[in-house]
Amino acid sequence: MGQRPNSPAARDVAYHLHPYTNARKHEAEGPLIIESGDGVTVTDDSGKRYIEGLAGLWCTSLGFGNERLIRAAEQQMRRLAYYHSFAHKVPPPVIELSEKLIAMAPGNMGKVFYANSGSEANDTAIKLVWYYNNALGRPGKKKIISRQRAYHGVTIASASLTGLPYNHADFDLPIEGIRHTSCPHYWRGAQDGESEEDFATRMAADLEQLILDEGPETVAAFIGEPVMGAGGVITPPRTYWRKVQEVLKKYDVLLIADEVICGFGRTGDMFGCETYGIEPDMVTVAKALSSAYLPISAVMMRDEVYQAIADNTKKIGTLGHGFTYSGHPVSAAVALETLKIYDEMDIAARASELAPRLQNGLRRYADHPLVGEVRGIGMIAAVEPVANKATRAPFDPAGKVGAQLDQRCRAHGVILRNLGDTLAVCPPLVIEEEQVDTIVEVIGKALDETWEWVRQEGLA
Ligand code: PMP
Repeated sequence: MGQRPNSPAARDVAYHLHPYTNARKHEAEGPLIIESGDGVTVTDDSGKRYIEGLAGLWCTSLGFGNERLIRAAEQQMRRLAYYHSFAHKVPPPVIELSEKLIAMAPGNMGKVFYANSGSEANDTAIKLVWYYNNALGRPGKKKIISRQRAYHGVTIASASLTGLPYNHADFDLPIEGIRHTSCPHYWRGAQDGESEEDFATRMAADLEQLILDEGPETVAAFIGEPVMGAGGVITPPRTYWRKVQEVLKKYDVLLIADEVICGFGRTGDMFGCETYGIEPDMVTVAKALSSAYLPISAVMMRDEVYQAIADNTKKIGTLGHGFTYSGHPVSAAVALETLKIYDEMDIAARASELAPRLQNGLRRYADHPLVGEVRGIGMIAAVEPVANKATRAPFDPAGKVGAQLDQRCRAHGVILRNLGDTLAVCPPLVIEEEQVDTIVEVIGKALDETWEWVRQEGLA
């Protein structure tokens, strides 16, 4: 194919190594250049408009072009474009944001530490857990348990927590001391005749067995997304988190809730922790914290965790951790304004008001010959195609059918994202009812067209 010489597409191909992209395919096909955004829509360089059905990367909850966020950034840039929080200094928006975050956080959080991305927040959480156990005089209690299909980021440690093959293959990951327990996907993982309740019990038993095999005195923390996002939008059985927490308490293992996608209304509650009755020791947030207008993330921790860490900083002389942009004032000002808007519009209530429209709308496709499972909660959902509806056999190789679905949705004006063959939906929470209906209808069309294609190709 190739791109016109010197066109923006050709220059992108010439100079840019894209994240999460097949580089050779990109050379052949070039980029989709997105030039502008307004509300829940974005426009490409040919003038075609799309509904952004994944809120970018599960993050632009307030959509595009929000004037209040733009103003908050501009005003803060003029007042103080940059300052840091090292060595006892702090800019005012960071003070306000900290107070606000701690007031609204799930569970009983006492302190917040800032970073720039979800990966950095989870990396920081691991480091603080290690630091905490050293402070308590338990240097052997360091292992972190994550789950298969978890997504916690791509830095060396957070990619190790991530439980997806792409993120480990040829990166020499995971690092030492990270374990992965089973993924609570009932539809995929249940044994014959096993109820959801029994499946949840088995998942908790798997976790307990892993802790016992490793030795509880070596296991420091468990990390989990309330609803697994990039691993395929996996909603756990209702009782899963209660059972998991009983196991963690028994062996004195900290619980880190990764609210990077679930946080700020996505599940229909302010946090996924509220939806599933999770009482975390630490919470990480990013993405919707600033509606993605600027990079900012945070790790919150219970006061007890903070107290041990604080004692250790006194002993060592300082907390030897912090980024140049930990608590960037412009990001903090934008995050603060974002949280004010969430309060004013009652974002969680809005998500739960819209949720039946999305969830029931998509569940109409459960009987579609291509569809194995439709799942989701609040304003996050997924449709998983299967090669054989009766046996639930996935397509082999995975990803081609998902790519077809994704492309066809895009052709009909909706940008979504295929995770392998699973199509994920996670629109901005400022979306209108009719736009939710449009997403649902477009997915229906894409399923019909892809089913035709699957049959022509002899894939099912
Ligand atoms: N945790 C979760 C649950 C995520 O979904 C993501 C990103 N998709 C991350 C962590 C990593 O965030 P980032 O890409 O900002 O590093």
